[in-house]
Amino acid sequence: MKHNAQPADVDAVLRVIEEMGYEGRPIPGRQRVAIGLIGNDGKVDSGRLVALEGVREVIPVTQPYKQVSREWRDDPTVIELKNGTVIGGRDVVIMAGPCSVENEEQISGVARSIREAGATVLRGGAFKPRTSPYAFQGLGREGLELLARARDETGLAVVTEALDVQGLEMVAEYADILQIGARNMQNYSLLRAAGRAGIPVLLKRGMSATVRELLLAAEYIVSEGESRVILCERGLRGFDDHARNMLDLTAVVSVHELSHLPIVVDPSHGTGIRTKVPPMARAAVAAGADGIIIEVHPDPDRSVSDAAQAMHPDAFQQLVPELRGIAQAIDRDLVSPLD
Ligand code: PEP
Ligand code: MN
Repeated sequence: MKHNAQPADVDAVLRVIEEMGYEGRPIPGRQRVAIGLIGNDGKVDSGRLVALEGVREVIPVTQPYKQVSREWRDDPTVIELKNGTVIGGRDVVIMAGPCSVENEEQISGVARSIREAGATVLRGGAFKPRTSPYAFQGLGREGLELLARARDETGLAVVTEALDVQGLEMVAEYADILQIGARNMQNYSLLRAAGRAGIPVLLKRGMSATVRELLLAAEYIVSEGESRVILCERGLRGFDDHARNMLDLTAVVSVHELSHLPIVVDPSHGTGIRTKVPPMARAAVAAGADGIIIEVHPDPDRSVSDAAQAMHPDAFQQLVPELRGIAQAIDRDLVSPLD
């Protein structure tokens, strides 16, 4: 809409869109209001819309995903968590914690040390998607309880994974951010349910998914009404075994070009090897990631899952100021630590 368009003009456009058999969504922006049109599968005849009062132009969205595209909304999506952490703004968010929640001492201990180091979000799986059915599957509700206790003690926000639709409601009761894992990126019923859970979603890129598929998966969540989606690059299955995965940092740049959603990088799964995590975390911040999510364990070699990539809290503590320096070099900063 034109910058001087009146609310009545917006209403008139919405009415016409409805008459055409579609749904209109006002998108308030810094300069002007945009109106998104959804419900069409293909090109829409814009003839009835262009001449309406207050309309500046009709822009066809050329991507198969719409609501998550930059064409739909140019302003970045900024997500504020209850503990004040802002994701997708100028500052880079640090999320850290063990792969799996193992016991109270472990999760509370890690929570205290990552908070001390400057992280503001605690990660930890209570439900684990394991490649082998015989591997540790997570503590379930008890793990969620332990995460909630660690949050109460430290003020950290909690990000944790829901594996399936049945378990999602329980996870959403405890989590500040709902994690959808790489293996579930194209589990469309889970994506739809996540879009109705009422909390922000961290959507991890599938290990063989294209950026386009990642954005379409995000579109599933947003189309159910949840606009607070954080994408996560966590490495792809490659041909080379020098690392667990190939961390695609170009995806950070591509996502920022194609979408208004924030993207964080997981250099732990992205490399699978402890010594490779800090350099790739630094590279991710340099590439423009809106956050970093790192596996940290008090006794990394004894970690019940993903031991090879787990970092010791001391190493993590050393890394954070390096990330801050890199963020500052590109006119950003880290999200302020909790006081
Ligand atoms: C995890 O975060 O521990 C995890 C299982 O990640 P991914 O889904 O990326 O493999
Ligand atoms: Mn893990």
